[in-house]
Amino acid sequence: MAVYDVVIIGGGIVGTAVARQLSSFRLMVALLEAYPDISCGTTKANGGVVHSGYSAKHGTLKAKLNVLGNRAYPRLASELGFKYVNTGSLVVGFDGSDADYIKHLYDNGLANGVAGLALLNLEQARTIEPRLNPEAKIFLYAPTAGIVDPFEVALAQAENAAANGVAVYRNCAVTGIGRAAGEFILQTGQGDFTARTVVNAAGVYADAVASMAGQKDLNIKARLGEVLVLDKELGFSLNTVLFPLPSGPSKGIVVIPTVSGNTLVSATARLVEDKEDVATTRVGVQELIAGGRRLIPEIGAHKVIREFSGLRAVAEGTGDDFVVGPVPGLPGFINAAGIQSPGIASAPAIAGMVVGLLADQGLDLQDKPDFNPYRQAPVSCSKLTDAERDELIRSNPAYGQVVCRCEGVTAGEIADAIRGPVGATTIDGVKRRTRAGMGRCQGGFCQPRVLAILARELGRDPWDIWLEYQDSAVVNGLLKEVRSDGK
Ligand SMILES: Cc1cc2nc3c(=O)[nH]c(=O)nc-3n(C[C@H](O)[C@H](O)[C@H](O)COP(=O)(O)OP(=O)(O)OC[C@H]3O[C@@H](n4cnc5c(N)ncnc54)[C@H](O)[C@@H]3O)c2cc1C
Repeated sequence: MAVYDVVIIGGGIVGTAVARQLSSFRLMVALLEAYPDISCGTTKANGGVVHSGYSAKHGTLKAKLNVLGNRAYPRLASELGFKYVNTGSLVVGFDGSDADYIKHLYDNGLANGVAGLALLNLEQARTIEPRLNPEAKIFLYAPTAGIVDPFEVALAQAENAAANGVAVYRNCAVTGIGRAAGEFILQTGQGDFTARTVVNAAGVYADAVASMAGQKDLNIKARLGEVLVLDKELGFSLNTVLFPLPSGPSKGIVVIPTVSGNTLVSATARLVEDKEDVATTRVGVQELIAGGRRLIPEIGAHKVIREFSGLRAVAEGTGDDFVVGPVPGLPGFINAAGIQSPGIASAPAIAGMVVGLLADQGLDLQDKPDFNPYRQAPVSCSKLTDAERDELIRSNPAYGQVVCRCEGVTAGEIADAIRGPVGATTIDGVKRRTRAGMGRCQGGFCQPRVLAILARELGRDPWDIWLEYQDSAVVNGLLKEVRSDGK
């Protein structure tokens, strides 16, 4: 049985970032993910802002890792071929007490080492974002903020890690952790995995995983946030990310342009008991629309094409900070837990810290001479010129068959997404890799065709194809048998 140098539990943005960084060393590494796909936890359900780092309290781990993570994104994006846009961000204030808080954020940001922060008036702010509420008066501009599709980042990291030798297992929930001869024995439905060291990047379930290993004092609460997706045909597009003043534990209702051309209104904040409960609510929509309109008055409910929610992993007793570190009495076990916002922005730096901690635990980090840091972005037909598209269709006519009309995704791209390293096996897995089903009709037209391509490529019956999670089939079986002559 293989003995892994490192087993990473959890295939969100943190676990995949760790996997990708470890793949540059001569190590045996495995990534175990409970769900049928990478990025099915909180990493698929958030605002995608690469925060600049002015809001996390100076001196916290969050503040340090946010700023370092933000700085890492431009290079990471160019190596891994995911979309990253350096939009900058504005905090929008309306009155005197807002002005005091904005000055506090400015000072905190300077202390955290955030570059380029500036206090602006309305006239200056409107040169950046002309659609800003004209009643706003004072603004904090952070030019280093940016945006990504977080699931694209996680997938790119997982693919590059796999290409560099990391074994990626999906449908592979860790259900127990034992110890034998100084090594960890991880029990899963796919058999036992033996590991010298373990990284716990299990999101809201990091406390359950830590408890399996013997750590009983990590408690993770789930703070649910609802998010609205607005149609691309909004009538305008935004240049920058707009924040209100923070309210309570959250950053308030934020209006965010996305790298794919939609606008998000993100997010509410409410503690929930059930870590599987990601239901959305009418009250949530109302709160989001009201919050969004305070920043951009033109935002309206009639432009909403989707609402989703995600769970922030809040580690109790930490003052809302991240928990990244070894566990006393558990040598070789490293937590990357309590990774609430800004976990997307911080992920590259969290991974860097975890790799350093593994080295402190005795892991021998020898460079792998054939490590390839680059990942080729998949073909996106809608981004090609007519001449490029013609050439591609001549080489493979499937690139001429448009399946998702809203997003212009072809049968060829869907087949690529299924055949790729860490390929899609579910309808939502295809959606995250290609955007088929992310447009205005939300899969109403293309979902049956995506299902048929998945069934063909994977050699399965259509009723064995899942939407997302285990057993989430969208068709139950045949209504009546079809004769082989088609009649
Ligand atoms: C509404 C909302 C908006 C947000 N907006 C932003 C933002 O704009 N910018 C930002 O920086 N951050 C944002 N965040 C925070 C960010 O989304 C998270 O910090 C980040 O996604 C956490 O990533 P993760 O890898 O730690 O967790 P996850 O993505 O949840 O990954 C953990 C994985 O572990 C797996 N797992 C759990 N238990 C097991 C087990 N026993 N065995 C195997 N696998 C297991 C899970 O299936 C899951 O896939 C937001 C969060 C929310 C909820």
